[in-house]
Amino acid sequence: MAHGWLSLTGRDLGALTGLSRAADAAPEPIQAEYDCIVIGAGAGGGIVACLMAEAGHRTLLVERGSHVAPDPDGGDHLRNQRLSLYGVNAGPSLAENPRVDATGSAPRTVLATDGAWNNNASCVGGGTRVYGAQAWRFHPKDFRMASEYGVPDGSSLADWPITYGDLAPHYERVEWELGVAGDTSSYGYTGSGSRGYPMPPFPVTGSGVPLARGAASLGWETLPPPMLMNTIPYGGRNACIHCRHCVGFPCPVDAKNGVHSTMIPRGLATGLLQLATGAVVREIVTDGKGEVTGVALLEEAYTGANLRSVRARTVVVAAGAIETARLLLNSRSSMHPDGLGNASGHVGRNLQGHYYPSARGLMEEPCWDGVGPGPCIATCRFNHGNPGVIGGAMLCNDFIELPIIFWRNGLPPDVPRWGIENKRWMRENYRRTLQVTGPVQEIPSPNARVELDGSVRDRWGIPVARLSGRTHPETVKTAAAIWERCCEWLRASGASRIWGGPPGLGLSGGQHQAGTCRMGRDPRSSVTDSFGRVHGHQNLFIADASLHVTNGGFNPVLTVMAMAFRIGGFVAAL
Ligand SMILES: Cc1cc2nc3c(=O)[nH]c(=O)nc-3n(C[C@H](O)[C@H](O)[C@H](O)COP(=O)(O)OP(=O)(O)OC[C@H]3O[C@@H](n4cnc5c(N)ncnc54)[C@H](O)[C@@H]3O)c2cc1C
Ligand code: SF4
Repeated sequence: MAHGWLSLTGRDLGALTGLSRAADAAPEPIQAEYDCIVIGAGAGGGIVACLMAEAGHRTLLVERGSHVAPDPDGGDHLRNQRLSLYGVNAGPSLAENPRVDATGSAPRTVLATDGAWNNNASCVGGGTRVYGAQAWRFHPKDFRMASEYGVPDGSSLADWPITYGDLAPHYERVEWELGVAGDTSSYGYTGSGSRGYPMPPFPVTGSGVPLARGAASLGWETLPPPMLMNTIPYGGRNACIHCRHCVGFPCPVDAKNGVHSTMIPRGLATGLLQLATGAVVREIVTDGKGEVTGVALLEEAYTGANLRSVRARTVVVAAGAIETARLLLNSRSSMHPDGLGNASGHVGRNLQGHYYPSARGLMEEPCWDGVGPGPCIATCRFNHGNPGVIGGAMLCNDFIELPIIFWRNGLPPDVPRWGIENKRWMRENYRRTLQVTGPVQEIPSPNARVELDGSVRDRWGIPVARLSGRTHPETVKTAAAIWERCCEWLRASGASRIWGGPPGLGLSGGQHQAGTCRMGRDPRSSVTDSFGRVHGHQNLFIADASLHVTNGGFNPVLTVMAMAFRIGGFVAAL
């Protein structure tokens, strides 16, 4: 069996995406005024910008990062977006963008190489440029967690102001307009019928075979994880070649469907959308009556960090859950001394991501076949209905894991981290290890927060985000229950030894960061209405993961995208 790491040198990478060609062109100057400005070219912003342009609105999409091209050698294992310890490959630039970690006894300044920074990605496409692209719909119960479970003391658990049914048509648009590969059994847990997926699912690969056997012996139903990837050519883009550098890297053949390869090119094709990279929005500007009139931005890629204002009838913020909250808090005026949308003090609260209990098991024989992308078997049996705990998680095997990440996160506790014994263990066991993991639905806490730091500023002099607080203790209880299910699955699949453990109480955000500008019906307990319109502002909207009232027991991006279709359609029709 081949088990080296393949080089992709020799592929015509330049021809792979229209955006990489666009990156070479001289930037079009930013105008003084647009119909709409969208801040952040990630999952939410890329979709809203496209819908606005397609509806005939002159739209500026502002992105502080740049275009990221695939690495001609497949990927630098030390610098990728899933292991930020040694550097990142999809932004942000390191020294320029500190944050303050105030979760411990003494606040400390951290860079994006530190887990406490809670990085996602900062580039054209945002997280979708390098994501793993698991494309789960949330469970209908995820939208009414308070009604299902009550509200634990000290938590801010709440129902969404919309139902699963409100989002279902928009989920379907994402699945067809960006492209999802899956199996209609994936809809079983949602309880609703659907058009199905446009592409067949990925096949069960090496590690899926024993896991399928184990699940069958337990009587657990399984399904292939839906993926925003092409299993066959789709949308003018290639099919996946099953390489080993998927999660954390741009796709070398453009088979991963992010907004950079779908909605942004679609919007640009209208001639009404302009994408400005290397441009940082410093604040949202209001007039003497407190109404939003546009943004103040630093157009670094254009004129060398000049600060200028750009006017617009509508502003849509989609900068990711931490940066969106930071931007609203930094948009202060005499009318809004605590920041925009923050009259009730909710901007920046309820920061959540996912707790990820992960168990690993040692098999008799190798089960790793190196066939990417990796996650090929899942169960949704434990998303709800777990005795004594709130919510739960979808469980599945993981992406092909780089040896360096396995070395850092996956070794049993008694194996030395260095030296000859470590090398021996890695050589003999890396390919015999199975992993089961899942995104545990967090129970939000109002004290898990994004605030502004009073003393630390970024390279442009803008106050940085200060992260503090912890998730609610109920999250840890749920994570412990889900970890037991991970172990049960591994045992039933034949693992002779199992290790790992549920995470302890802390703050999470990271790549699944959400919740800092939650939507709701009551302006006293939320930041926006159910269409992302910031309470008290007719022309200011939010369209990213900040809106999530709760973050489901699934990877969140399909929900970010479905919400963006819903909000983009609403705003475009105004
Ligand atoms: C390695 C990796 C793997 C992942 N795997 C999965 C997966 O398998 N399934 C899943 O569901 N999710 C996955 N995710 C998470 C997913 O990518 C995020 O949920 C999603 O991108 C969030 O969308 P968003 O619109 O909220 O923010 P983002 O996509 O983060 O977009 C925000 C954008 O705004 C820009 N920005 C911020 N501030 C400013 C400013 N002031 N001015 C201008 N621009 C600004 C940022 O640079 C960024 O590009 C993964 C993410 C990563 C990085
Ligand atoms: S596994 Fe497939 S989709 Fe993922 S990066 Fe490789 S070729 Fe692209």
